[in-house]
Amino acid sequence: MISFEKALDLILNSARYLGDEPVDFMEAQNRVLAEDVFSDVDMPPFDKAAMDGFACRRADLGSELEVIETLAAGQVPQKTIGEGQCTRIMTGAMVPEGADTVIMVEQTEETGHERIRFTGEKTTPNIAYKAEDVKTGDLMWKKGQPILPSHIAIFAAVGCTSPLVAKQPRVAILSTGDELVEPQQKPGPGMIRNSNAWQLVAQVKSANCIPNYMGIVPDTPEDTEAAITKALAENDVVLLTGGVSMGDFDYVPAAMKKNNVEILFQKVAVKPGRPTVFGTTGNSYIFGLPGNPVSSYINFEVFVKPLLYKLMGHDFKPYELTLPMGVNYKRKKADRLEWLPVDINEQGEVIPVGYHGSAHIHAVCLSKALMKIPVDTFELTKGESVHVRPL
Ligand code: AMP
Ligand code: MG
Repeated sequence: MISFEKALDLILNSARYLGDEPVDFMEAQNRVLAEDVFSDVDMPPFDKAAMDGFACRRADLGSELEVIETLAAGQVPQKTIGEGQCTRIMTGAMVPEGADTVIMVEQTEETGHERIRFTGEKTTPNIAYKAEDVKTGDLMWKKGQPILPSHIAIFAAVGCTSPLVAKQPRVAILSTGDELVEPQQKPGPGMIRNSNAWQLVAQVKSANCIPNYMGIVPDTPEDTEAAITKALAENDVVLLTGGVSMGDFDYVPAAMKKNNVEILFQKVAVKPGRPTVFGTTGNSYIFGLPGNPVSSYINFEVFVKPLLYKLMGHDFKPYELTLPMGVNYKRKKADRLEWLPVDINEQGEVIPVGYHGSAHIHAVCLSKALMKIPVDTFELTKGESVHVRPL
């Protein structure tokens, strides 16, 4: 049995980048950027009015001002501001030559036809200066980073309409188990619905990879081997659930070996999900995840997701918070790193939810985070800092 950290290292060290492709920038959301994107413009591109008002000389704020022009956003000033003059200006318009201040319309009054006066006590310049946000040639977003809505705005602003992004891994999902029926069916005696596969489809989508559900595999060595052969041939990553423990009908590890998969580990010191298997054929990667839905869920989050991102060139660093325990917590054994579904109360304290073990997927629905309990930690006391990963 290997540690959580060692297992994650083995997974990440085996991962090879899958390559890239250009996409239309509106299709780039949640993809991983595969090139550095630079700006081809200054932002703002010119000194820009930050308020609706009048552009003038600060030295003239005490005097009455003559309005010599009106500027809408998008218009180029035709006149230079001289002593005692101003231009009526809208937010976003170019500040005319000669002006160093834009006074807000709310701080002025009309004193005659096209004549105004500053009525405020003081004012900031209210000018967004050329290139103060971004200079031409500045790095806007980095290779290896996911693309979020604000990055789409950046791509639009710098004219990057077909960014290079990482190819998305195609991920086969297979459930093993003679007891399984699909969600549309009512389970007969001894049977249960296949929930893992559909949970994995959703998890693969949330990592923005391509899920490829390949069905329920009967618990025979032949069926398991054939299903793995087909899945490895057609996908970058293969996820199986069930059939990895010590039962009489657990054929997944042996069927992987028959497919010339190099198995890198078969047991990890984690709870839940000890009998997790991982291997590679060199150009595809295969996980045998435990059959219980919480184990499958958590091991996807902690092992599969980092692999999928690494294949897309992104170094995934899960978001972890340090929060105080809201209650005392004890466990009997501490030989494994445990991920426990927990709630976070309004005071920001961590409260374990009612949880009956790795079949109890409903407990995950009712929790806000997974708490990490390190190896050798038997007890946590109220107020003690713990690490949690928000879900
Ligand atoms: P196994 O790892 O095959 O021994 O399965 C462990 C437990 O998980 C058993 O109670 C199974 O019935 C259950 N299980 C296995 N596969 C699934 C699945 N696809 N959906 C829900 N539960 C499952
Ligand atoms: Mg089974």
